[in-house]
Parts: sequence; structure tokens; C-alpha cells
Amino acid sequence: MRRLSRADCERLDSTDPLGAFRNRFELPDGIVYLDGNSLGALPAGTRRRLDELVREQWGKDLIRSWNCHDWIGMPRRIGAKIARLIGAGDDEVIATDSTSVNLFKLLAGALHMRPKRKVIVSERGNFPTNLYIVQGLIRLLGQGHELRLVEADELPCALDTGVAVLLLTQVDYRSGRLHDLAAMTRQAHAKGILTLWDLSHSAGAMPIELNAAGADMAVGCGYKYLNGGPGAPAYLFVARRHQGDVQPAIAGWMGHAAPFEFAPDYRPAPGIERHLAGTPPVLGLAALEVGVDLLLEADLHLVREKSRRLGDLCLRLVEQECTAFGFERACPHDSAQRGSQVAFRHPRGYAIIQALIAKGIIGDFRAPDILRFGFAPLYLRYVDVWDAVAALHRVMHNKAWDRPELEHKTTVT
Ligand SMILES: *Cc1c(COP(=O)(O)O)cnc(C)c1O
Repeated sequence: MRRLSRADCERLDSTDPLGAFRNRFELPDGIVYLDGNSLGALPAGTRRRLDELVREQWGKDLIRSWNCHDWIGMPRRIGAKIARLIGAGDDEVIATDSTSVNLFKLLAGALHMRPKRKVIVSERGNFPTNLYIVQGLIRLLGQGHELRLVEADELPCALDTGVAVLLLTQVDYRSGRLHDLAAMTRQAHAKGILTLWDLSHSAGAMPIELNAAGADMAVGCGYKYLNGGPGAPAYLFVARRHQGDVQPAIAGWMGHAAPFEFAPDYRPAPGIERHLAGTPPVLGLAALEVGVDLLLEADLHLVREKSRRLGDLCLRLVEQECTAFGFERACPHDSAQRGSQVAFRHPRGYAIIQALIAKGIIGDFRAPDILRFGFAPLYLRYVDVWDAVAALHRVMHNKAWDRPELEHKTTVT
């Protein structure tokens, strides 16, 4: 294959139909940010929006803002916008709580809908919080449920009529492997199994068609490709046909049919609002809305196409520039089976990532030995990928990773 040059990458950027979106973000100079799959970058509009909300709404209109600035409607309004990113109806998604809490709520609801079945199937490599939430809920319910963990290729055999829920993350956080959401949903439904999808690593990086796939429930994260900011509220989806049957696991007043009647007895709201528990986090939701609005301006098919090309470019450049250094590809080669990230295994992965970060190339490390690079197509350029791989080559060639202080593990990796 022909050797690629930096000029080739510049050419790709000059014809990139998404190129203009980069100016809509505040990105620090001298940084190549390959961690937008973990914490999305800061949209330029977020600062203005938060400043206005704090000064004018909270500062001046105070409690009246719940009505006059529709703070109370934010979970529904922003949920309806997220719905457009994931192929759902506007009354099927609500923005609230964290992904972990939303998983807990929907899994509890799903198990309640399949009282005779006691098995939850998931992947052994699923994101840890997803597995912990299942384990905790099983203990809390005390009804003899079982978590059956398998490898991705064993999933079809693991689905039998004892299974209540199939809990999958569409894009694996380590390997970037992408599930066929429609096909897995079909296989589950053939056995009467409900599907609960985690879209944390896929939403905002590719078109998702929950309703076309017949998905039952889903959750996802607000601070990754949705660019909602650190600890942004998450969201949850319940298909319309199920909404009356999914009991809210946390029966809070914001999910009551009439919260401001202050009635002593709980009565769930008829629709998706029943999965609200407490008062909405207004500042977090406002920041999330800016990120979601920005994504809604983009054509998600173009986002996906660029994401695949950025990943392919990275794999090809690492092959071209870094063959000698012992990296082992840990993600699918075929971009059709990959989310918006690539991964490599290397025994010195942690120190290599630290050495890259010291040079302004921000990727991340996932235990035990994975170097992970995420591509947020709205603000990443092809030349950024070139510069990152060039820096990786320098780090390896100069053994810049071989310094004891780089082995020091920070709390967050
Ligand atoms: C990021 C992520 C989460 C995050 O959960 P929080 O409750 O926000 O900490 C959950 N699941 C998956 C698959 C993720 O990628």
C-alpha cells in the first residue's frame, strides 16, 4: 500500500463536509484530543448558555424560572432531542440521572415484566458499572435471579426461554466492537426476551435506529459523544408499547402523575416521565442541551462515515509508522464492525499513554494493557490522527515511556 503523508491528511480535511463544526468547540492549542469518547470537548455555546442561565434565570427570576424558563420541562424537552439521535419517538426518551441509575431503574422494570424468568444475559467484557448494577439489583430483589455472562460470539446460544433480559452495550468500551443492534434484538425477541441497550459509546457517533430495530429499552451517557460536560445527565428510552407496563423502580415525586398535588400516595405518570425521580439538575441539563443541539445540526451518516475513516486512517498509520514496537490491534479491523475508537494492546500501555499525554496527545488506558484512541468526528481532523501517530512513533523510538514516574497510576485513568 502507498505510504501516506501528512499532506494526504490535509487534503482529506480540506474536503471534509463536517470540517466547519470544529470551530463550534473550544479546543486548547497544542492538544490532539482522542478522548472524546470518554469526556466530550466543550462546545463554544455552552459557556454562554450557562452564564446566561446563572445570571438571568437563577440570578434574577429565581424560583419563577421553573415555569417562565421551563426548567421543569427540560428532561422531556432534551429527551425528545436525544430521541432524534437514536431513532426514537419524542415521547420515548427522557434526560435524567446517571447511566448507572437509569440502568438500575429500567432493569428492575424489565425483570418485573418477566416474573417467571430469572436470567439476565450480558457480556463478560461489558462496562463494569453495568455488571455491578445487575449484581446489586439481584441481591436487592432476593428472588433468585442469575447473571449469565458470555463472550460476544456465545450470545446466540445463551438466549433461551429462561432469559428475562438481554443487557448489551452497543459499542464495547475497550475493543470498540459494534453489535448489530437490530439482529440481536430480533434474536432476543424470538425467545420472548426483552432487550436493554446501553448506547453510551455509540450515540452521537453514528445513526441509531431503536424503533426500526424494535428495541425495548435503552440507556446512554450525556458526557461522551453528546458533549454534555463532566457528569452530564444521562438518558433512558422505553418503547411506547411498554410504557404502561414498566414500573418505576424509584417512585419519586417528579415521576408522579401530578407532583404538585402533593398527594400522600404514589401514582406513576402515564408516560416516560414516570422514570424521573427527583428534581432535575438544571445546570447540567442546560449544558447537555447545547451539546445535543450541536449534534442535531450534523448529518449522522456523515458523522459515521468520517468516524470510520478516522479509525481506518489511525490503524493504517500505526501499521505504517509503528510496526517495530509490538503493538497488537485490539479492535476490529473492519470499520463496519467498529465504533468510533481503536485500541491496541501493549505491555507498557500505561506508561506509553502517559508519555503521549505529556506531549499533548490525549488518549487513554484501560486495564490491563489497552491503549484506546477515540475519534469524535465533529471536532477531530485527519491531521490530528497523523500528528498522534507521529508522536506515538517518537515516544516509542526514543523510549520516552521508559521513565519510572510514568508508571504512577492516577485515580482516574
Ligand atoms: C460511560 C459508560 C457508563 C457511565 O455510567 P455513569 O453512571 O455515567 O458513570 C455506563 N455504561 C457504559 C457502557 C459506559 O460506556
